[in-house]
Amino acid sequence: MEEIIQLNGDGSLSVPDTPVIPYISGDGTGPDIWNATRIVLDEAVKTAYGNNKKISFKKILAGEEAYEKTGEWLPKETLEQIQKYKVAIKGPLTTPVGHGMRSLNVAIRQDLDLFACIRPAKYIMGVPSPCNEPEKIDMIIFRENTEDLYLGIEWEAGTKEAKDAVSFVNTKTAKPLDESTTGIGIKPISEKNTKRLIRKAIQFAVDHHRKNVTIMHKGNIMKFTEGAFLKWGYEVGENEFTDAIITEQNLWDRFDGKIPEGKIVLKDRIADNMFQQVLLRPSEYDVIAAPNLNGDYISDLLAAMVGGLGLAPGANIGDSCAVFEATHGTAPKYAGLDKVNPGSVILSGAMMLDHLGWHEASDVIHAALQKAILNKKVTYDLARQIPGAIELKCSEFARELCASMV
Ligand code: NAP
Repeated sequence: MEEIIQLNGDGSLSVPDTPVIPYISGDGTGPDIWNATRIVLDEAVKTAYGNNKKISFKKILAGEEAYEKTGEWLPKETLEQIQKYKVAIKGPLTTPVGHGMRSLNVAIRQDLDLFACIRPAKYIMGVPSPCNEPEKIDMIIFRENTEDLYLGIEWEAGTKEAKDAVSFVNTKTAKPLDESTTGIGIKPISEKNTKRLIRKAIQFAVDHHRKNVTIMHKGNIMKFTEGAFLKWGYEVGENEFTDAIITEQNLWDRFDGKIPEGKIVLKDRIADNMFQQVLLRPSEYDVIAAPNLNGDYISDLLAAMVGGLGLAPGANIGDSCAVFEATHGTAPKYAGLDKVNPGSVILSGAMMLDHLGWHEASDVIHAALQKAILNKKVTYDLARQIPGAIELKCSEFARELCASMV
């Protein structure tokens, strides 16, 4: 009989020993990366638990393969399967250009209400980095996933919708917009969606004994969207985590900057400043909570600081299910060449194992990855930056990780 992960009333998971986990192998380089990831996940679980635990992977369709087989890019059944099994993992998917089609990745996140995009950026020893002290980088981004400019409410200049929107705006502003040449995008940010994201970020900081949570925003300019994100964020911290957090303001007003034992500092930084802060003072930043667009930018910057997109994992998590995926796309020029770095989906898989509570298996993966990199046995993206490296194919890299697991 199928073993299905169950969601408990308090939001935690009951995970059987052989849970069914659906996967989407993805487009472009996706199949190469997924095949490599799958053998690494299987081997890590076996190394950690012997024959006592095993993931039963189940293929589900999305992207080009889904379109060829079903005529749909994202079949309804795929979303239903993720809802049923609660946890899924995916390779990257192409966004077909034109026809106003939504990105499939954005569609999956929105349709399943996976409101928190969680992206860790932690330095792995031996990875080439453009930073002087990359070992100080250990941050995790909580990016709002369901609203902001990415919601996709926008109208092209000259269309009826854009003209209607402009004429409405022109009734409210002293400086009218040009009706026929102005495109319009809408940036909704709501109290409910902000608060659940920041609640998750602070709860993560509490559960993992992190030092601080920084709200990244541009509220000085966009007062009722990004400014509101900031205000609602502090409300969550101050009203719901009273014992756990201290605001930076209070820290200086009442404690002369000395953090009271066990407290997590809740602070905020304006988005443009945030970029220089993480580059120049990385050890001062830990958990970062951001609206969608800021979160997108800062996570790619942090990924580059710790070695690039080939090692940047991610998870999209909602109240009822979670989908783990790489930060990078399909890298189409490398499709079918068995060349790219599967590290990003492998690390996303390690995040998935942590989500299941299978931390020992996740630790096995991190240790194997560290060993391969210190031994300079890496894929092309790292090999071209590490003098004396041995370049491995995508599948060879996976086998190298498996061989070193203990
Ligand atoms: P991309 O696929 O992320 O590739 C950009 C570059 O990043 C690659 O040319 C490569 O750099 C590097 N890279 C990406 N994946 C890598 C890996 N596994 N190992 C090593 N290097 C890697 O971005 P794109 O070319 O802009 O997008 C291609 C398609 O992916 C588009 O259809 C886009 O919509 C889609 N996309 C999907 C997702 C997702 O599924 N979540 C996310 C982003 C984009 P070098 O050329 O320097 O080697």
